[in-house]
Amino acid sequence: MRFQNTLEFAKKLDASDALAPYRNEFHYPQVNGKDVIYFTGNSLGLQPKRTQKFVDEVMKDWRELAVEGHFYAEKPWWDYHERLANGLGKVVGAKPKEVSVMNTLTVNLHLLMVSFYRPNEKRYKIICEEKAFPSDQYMLQSQTRFHGFDPKEALVEVKKRDGEHTWRTEDIIAKINEVGDELALVLMGGVNYYNGQVLDMEAITKAGKKVGAYVGWDLAHAVGNVKLNLHDWGADFAAWCSYKYMNSGPGNASGIYVHESYLDRDDIPRFEGWWGTKKETRFLMQSEFDPIETADAWQLSNPPILSIAPYLASLELFDEVGMDALIEKQKTIVSYLEFVLQEIDKEVDSTFEIITPAARGCQLSVLLHGEGKSIFDYLMKNGVITDWREPNVIRLAPAPLYCSYEDMYHFGQILKKGIQTT
Ligand SMILES: *Cc1c(COP(=O)(O)O)cnc(C)c1O
Repeated sequence: MRFQNTLEFAKKLDASDALAPYRNEFHYPQVNGKDVIYFTGNSLGLQPKRTQKFVDEVMKDWRELAVEGHFYAEKPWWDYHERLANGLGKVVGAKPKEVSVMNTLTVNLHLLMVSFYRPNEKRYKIICEEKAFPSDQYMLQSQTRFHGFDPKEALVEVKKRDGEHTWRTEDIIAKINEVGDELALVLMGGVNYYNGQVLDMEAITKAGKKVGAYVGWDLAHAVGNVKLNLHDWGADFAAWCSYKYMNSGPGNASGIYVHESYLDRDDIPRFEGWWGTKKETRFLMQSEFDPIETADAWQLSNPPILSIAPYLASLELFDEVGMDALIEKQKTIVSYLEFVLQEIDKEVDSTFEIITPAARGCQLSVLLHGEGKSIFDYLMKNGVITDWREPNVIRLAPAPLYCSYEDMYHFGQILKKGIQTT
């Protein structure tokens, strides 16, 4: 498609966009009395309008049924989380029994490390990407220290080449082969939070498995954003948060995936709690732990219903739209945004550079040369919500569920004015 940087053309794209009606499913913050142009769905997704109903329902059941709500609410609480498994399985490319919802992301990565990082003298190294998300770095460092290793030795970071903004798959695989039989685990972000790069998760998973390591993925920026096939790729485990592209609300519950080959086994080390034991015998209050046949075996506590209710509401939307349709729009809208940026770049003195590679999802990271922060402030004041990452990157994520092509056009005009006047 040949794009044009005009309002008329943007409106034409919106008119033929099958997902356009979903815009009305969300609440938008207002700036200067108008809905904002929201580019930070990669940080905190907008609130779906239908979420309120799901939360109200739980509040009502709690008010009217109290403890009886566990079994007699319309959606009983004791197995409420199971309602998310089908939808989540579709979003991450897993069987419903391979997914569960519990805790928060960093907590879950630690819990999964109990099962999948079991180093010994010979095999103890972890491969991750250079400058991984800080929480992942702290998590990995503390895990290696917990097992008596020096993180400087046990953590192997894959670097980008000098002068390049992205990782090369061949370099990651070469590093996996180099560490070889010392490699205990590969744990990386499937979509990098900084440059928006989508790693070749399939190739990396296969390479890691080939040298005998476990392979896990932090999917914080990948879930609800890019095509995932965790089961077919043979990934051992994964975890993600739900508040970025999945719009489930601030700090909300995390999802996990555990490959089916580890399910229904009692020889897997794991931290356990009563919500991981079989439902049929749970309330007999026996002292023997009998793991549920699904990834729910990793659940410790009874889940926070008030927080998984918004997650269920959000999954309903994803289920209606489907990942394929979502990704199709995403490709077009991100390409259109890229086009608009390039057009603006031609019209003003070049001040920025897109550092996101072609292997991308929803995000374009724009490196601003020069007066970056003032442009960011100008955008915010003029109703464009982006985010800023030091030293001088603006991240733009036009989430396909609620961003329009017209937004992209208007953004371009605001950006141009910002560059010319700040
Ligand atoms: C957002 C994000 C997190 C956040 O972790 P929480 O435990 O939910 O606070 C972790 N890792 C990555 C890669 C992220 O992008």
